[in-house]
Amino acid sequence: MIIVTRKDISKEDYVRIERRLTELGFKLHPIVGVERIVIGAIGDRRTIDVQSLASLPGVEQVIPILHPYKLASREAKPEGTRILIRPGLEIGGRQLLIMAGPCAVESREQLLEAAQVVAAAGGDILRGGAYKPRTSPYSFQGLQEEGLRFLSEARAVTGLPVVTEVLNLPDLDRVAEVADIIQIGARNMQNFGLLRAVGRLRRPVLLKRGLAATVEEWLMAAEYILSEGNDQVILCERGIRTFETATRNTLDLSAVALVKTLSHLPVVVDPSHGTGRRALVPAMAKAAVMAGADGLLIEVHPNPAEALSDGEQSLDPSQFTRLMEELAPVAEVAGRSL
Ligand code: PEP
Ligand code: MN
Repeated sequence: MIIVTRKDISKEDYVRIERRLTELGFKLHPIVGVERIVIGAIGDRRTIDVQSLASLPGVEQVIPILHPYKLASREAKPEGTRILIRPGLEIGGRQLLIMAGPCAVESREQLLEAAQVVAAAGGDILRGGAYKPRTSPYSFQGLQEEGLRFLSEARAVTGLPVVTEVLNLPDLDRVAEVADIIQIGARNMQNFGLLRAVGRLRRPVLLKRGLAATVEEWLMAAEYILSEGNDQVILCERGIRTFETATRNTLDLSAVALVKTLSHLPVVVDPSHGTGRRALVPAMAKAAVMAGADGLLIEVHPNPAEALSDGEQSLDPSQFTRLMEELAPVAEVAGRSL
């Protein structure tokens, strides 16, 4: 349940509320808003007298949360979460954040070139996988630690923050040293040990929707991270598997509009994996902005024909630059700034 405190609550009253809830066996997650503190209290509500809680001094309202996800739910934080990636760069507010770069870091030259293209076109964040989850064990698995070094060099050269995927728990510390945003890939959406581990960090996490995950399962995965105390979760819709095989995945834009009502967390859309086809990326990127996305994740490669992974869905530099130009008026209509 959610305990909404009064705007003018005194320190003593607040402490008394926290003490009472703790005595009742609740785990507390204070959410400090602009105007007041809201306490997310996770535990068994059936055992308590809601009326007596509501009458404690300093309590304005006690709201039960009906969804199985509690901390991720919109009730917990009606105004929506804004995550500061670095000063001046925030997701979840007016700014539309563009994360772009190659599927995989392939070489120093390839990454630096891609990073420069992203920066020059006005992208905000550099993406690139150092650890790649590949269907075949014989496919390129990523440059791993060397890839992380190239990512940190590209960040130093361009000034762009970096989002990169952690595939396995033992690599988490290494990835966290470099990543401004840690990506949990679709295949790991329900790797609960990994979710809990990134939940113990204080670093933004980009949580991709699982290959065949329902919206509820996706939000429950976010709940794992939030319940460990990390409130910087960004959701990413990247397409789901359906009966349709004409596209690589079915980009579920209705889920984006839906999740914005169910949850306060920012949502990013990945039209590259969502379609699997470069020609469809610009249209779906624009549609995503109109559906309420707070950002886009787009694969860009200096030479897609030579990419070691996901070349078919990667934009080349001129296509990405054109997309950025085309996005500007769309963002404006959607009330966003690019
Ligand atoms: C990726 O971003 O390159 C990736 C592997 O994505 P997903 O986990 O969505 O398949
Ligand atoms: Mn990819």
